[in-house]
Amino acid sequence: MTTIGFIGLGNMGGPMAVNLVKAGHKVIGFDLSPDAIAAAKGAGCEIAGSAIEAATGADVVITMLPAGKHVVSVYNEIKDSVKPGALMIDCSTIDIASAQSAHDIASEIGALSVDAPVSGGTMGAINGTLAFMAGGTDEALTAAEPILEPMAGRVVRCGDGTAGQAAKVCNNMILAITMIGTGEAFEMGKRLGLTDQALFDVVSTASGQSWSTTTYCPVPGPVPTSPANNDYKPGFATDLMVKDLGLSQEAAEMTGAYTPLGEKATQLYREFAEQGHGEVDFSGIIKIMQAAEKK
Ligand code: NAD
Repeated sequence: MTTIGFIGLGNMGGPMAVNLVKAGHKVIGFDLSPDAIAAAKGAGCEIAGSAIEAATGADVVITMLPAGKHVVSVYNEIKDSVKPGALMIDCSTIDIASAQSAHDIASEIGALSVDAPVSGGTMGAINGTLAFMAGGTDEALTAAEPILEPMAGRVVRCGDGTAGQAAKVCNNMILAITMIGTGEAFEMGKRLGLTDQALFDVVSTASGQSWSTTTYCPVPGPVPTSPANNDYKPGFATDLMVKDLGLSQEAAEMTGAYTPLGEKATQLYREFAEQGHGEVDFSGIIKIMQAAEKK
């Protein structure tokens, strides 16, 4: 049994912490939200009165927080309480610079550290099937793998510190772009007289194939489990995609990478969110194409 301090018990962190409890670990959680605390407590987590208390004496400290500023602030808050040699795993999706700061703080206090953002959403968190993208030293990654296991479908070693965040931001930029392309094609196909099913039958087995078509098809019908069949309820909300695309564009700026489609995708998803669709599944971006006037 490992003692794990878990900070950030929200939509993702709450169920992740519960899976660690189910695996037999002692989990001491903390969150600023009384509702999040109550849910985690009801599911078997012990609750600390502060982030410092959750981290004190823990073998492993896991954070699952909204953004980089929260992670760096919590790392600074707890750094004098984390025991030397402890393992710090940040599972939040954050910018590369903040992820580097978190690794630097951990290194300063003699802790091992891993950035391990996830994909798989809240269902993956509940079912313990998240895909972790992990960055850190070999020693840190080897220590982290058995801890992540009860929450994971798989753990991919991406490289040194911040490599997990780098992989996450690249993956989600591809996802955003392919979903726009898929929406454009399905709407144009409809205007050309194709049925959605006929286009799906071709694209899903041809060179235009992607996850955006085969798993998350943005029109109702061809993939019964896609959010399009459920009034575009998330799934993965547009606001979260806007956040991840913002991180991709920060990364592009930082590295000088040329990402014209990433930039355009960011603009389109922002517009869609500003039109009041922030809580709609991101595949709902097809509504922009559907709304465009026919000539
Ligand atoms: P959430 O808002 O539900 O949870 C975040 C929690 O952090 C909240 O309960 C909040 O009260 C808590 N918090 C904020 N500051 C804190 C502090 N200083 N101390 C303690 N607790 C604090 O968000 P979420 O959906 O659980 O997402 C968490 C992270 O996972 C984000 O970085 C998000 O981008 C990423 N992510 C989310 C999903 C998803 O589908 N929701 C999927 C993949 C990755």
